[in-house]
Amino acid sequence: MKSRVIILGPPGAGKGTCASRVSDIAGIPHISTGDLLREAVRERAPLGIRAKGHMDAGELVPDELVVGMLRERLARPDCQKGFILDGFPRTLAQAKALGGIAAVDLAINMVVPADIIVKRLSTRLVCSKCGAVYNTRTLPPKKAGICDKCGGKLYQREDDRPEAVRRRLEEYKKKTKPLIGYYREKRILVNIKTKSIGEPPEANVRRVLAAMGIKG
Ligand code: AMP
Repeated sequence: MKSRVIILGPPGAGKGTCASRVSDIAGIPHISTGDLLREAVRERAPLGIRAKGHMDAGELVPDELVVGMLRERLARPDCQKGFILDGFPRTLAQAKALGGIAAVDLAINMVVPADIIVKRLSTRLVCSKCGAVYNTRTLPPKKAGICDKCGGKLYQREDDRPEAVRRRLEEYKKKTKPLIGYYREKRILVNIKTKSIGEPPEANVRRVLAAMGIKG
């Protein structure tokens, strides 16, 4: 089984939703650098204080901060059987740093048409308590504004507002997209295509599990 997995793709591709479900089924931790950073911001940790301005503007947080945070997370015992990285690496420098921290067996590239991305991000809601992700159009909570899992209040991320979304897409094109070629050259890249906005997340979950060598 390929259990050291990274998920690449533009913001709004559905990386988090997919990674979280694959993590439940495969029994390996889902590590989202965005979630870890948002937690550091909520706790007003030194890392969060340095990262917040970049995040709200839709810019990438400097490599050395994110790499240090990820190195600590990957050193925890639950990562010994594998991991699913969501939102890391996002630059070539991060990809090279990751190579020195852990081996990667599989790089999933989530390919999503641009119109779907913009629609998804503008209707996305996140739980303020547990970080669960909803979408008012495609994945609504049972009760409006309230998290199904923990009852927390749902909110729109600062960086899901139109101006920050534009910045995030630019950052993705300039800094993260080149990683597709980097992992293709290493012969561990698998493209997974979302065809329509109505497609349930399970379709991608099955594709990722199959690429990992797990029968769905
Ligand atoms: P995400 O939840 O993955 O969309 O990440 C939200 C924001 O956190 C990004 O727009 C960046 O500001 C920051 N971030 C998350 N992961 C990284 C990373 N690997 N490198 C730099 N910044 C990151």
